[in-house]
Amino acid sequence: MSTDAAERDELADLVASTPLTDHHVHGAIAADLSPSAFEAALTESDRPAPSGLSTFDSSLGFAVRRWCAPLLDLDPHASGPEYTARRLELGHETVNRRFLAGSGVTHYLVETGHHTDHLLDPGGLSRLCGIRTSEVVRLESVAEELAASDVAASNFARLFDEALAARAASAVGLKTIVAYRAGLDVDPTRPSPAQVTAAAGSWLREIRAGAPARLTDPVLLRHLIWAGVDTGLPLQIHTGIGDPDLRLHRANPLLLTEFIEASEGSGAPLLLLHCYPYHRQAAYLSHAYPHVYVDVGLAVTFTGAAATTVVAELLELAPFGKVLYSSDAWGLSELHFLGSVQWRSALRSIITTRVTAGDWSLDDATRLVRMVSEENAARVYRLGGTEGSLS
Ligand SMILES: [Zn+2]
Repeated sequence: MSTDAAERDELADLVASTPLTDHHVHGAIAADLSPSAFEAALTESDRPAPSGLSTFDSSLGFAVRRWCAPLLDLDPHASGPEYTARRLELGHETVNRRFLAGSGVTHYLVETGHHTDHLLDPGGLSRLCGIRTSEVVRLESVAEELAASDVAASNFARLFDEALAARAASAVGLKTIVAYRAGLDVDPTRPSPAQVTAAAGSWLREIRAGAPARLTDPVLLRHLIWAGVDTGLPLQIHTGIGDPDLRLHRANPLLLTEFIEASEGSGAPLLLLHCYPYHRQAAYLSHAYPHVYVDVGLAVTFTGAAATTVVAELLELAPFGKVLYSSDAWGLSELHFLGSVQWRSALRSIITTRVTAGDWSLDDATRLVRMVSEENAARVYRLGGTEGSLS
């Protein structure tokens, strides 16, 4: 074997054997999915595909057929109909166990705010596949649960802070979806107590008149975010790609620049999630501000074989101590698996190119892989060896 080939094997072994922490992920659906339900879950769009088109005909769909089919005992590149039929034949429990265990992830930090029927919670995930899990709490969900009770507007801020403290006690981080609810161009300042009481009064009146308890008021959202910062826990912020409930141009992480500066020195790390297609802008923010971290969750699955390009673009400017791995998988356990496959493939490709060109040493490539796969997450979320549930 040539020296180059031996070095490539060593780099591939390094990436394959490095433990992986998925710092932002959701549950998997514990239900059997019809072919049309599976295809509907294989896209971020909440609209039906145009007549005659299949969501399998995408970077993600090709990747599922290439990498996931073999875990269901099918040949690589099996057709979409063969794939969904075999998935139904095996049943959701077997399918989910194979993909979750096959991901090689050693710790899932599970965000529990986006729930639906049959979605496995952190305990359900770890019982199914034996992988350690910890919880990340969504701020807006805590507020919406509180608003559904008979809370008074004058007590809203205090009771929210108490409810958050109770939930945060067993969580490793918090998450906000302000990008969905008001856009990232909200006023970055802390609202006054009087503003919060007035905004809570309006929102609670709407709910009691029959409106759904869905928080979109920018004053209350700002209160939630600052209450989150005040806990000192890592705060995950949705940026970039998402479903059409989002206005993507208002999810550009650069819109957070003033908030980032206002929260410097708070002690709370900010984790910019997803970021795509603004991952280069996010990389700049992580480069410029000591408490800002980045990932390309969701993009690492949905861009399929092109994930290597996306990860390489993130690593152009983001300091290597600021990059974390996330799949942002939700629903299909294929996404929990594919995120890991494509992340490892991207790292393998990037470090092989750099090391064989002589730009990076093998030792430096090794340190980078360990940082972005596990060590950065362990440091930011203060994960020791024993946090999280393991059933
Ligand atoms: Zn997510």
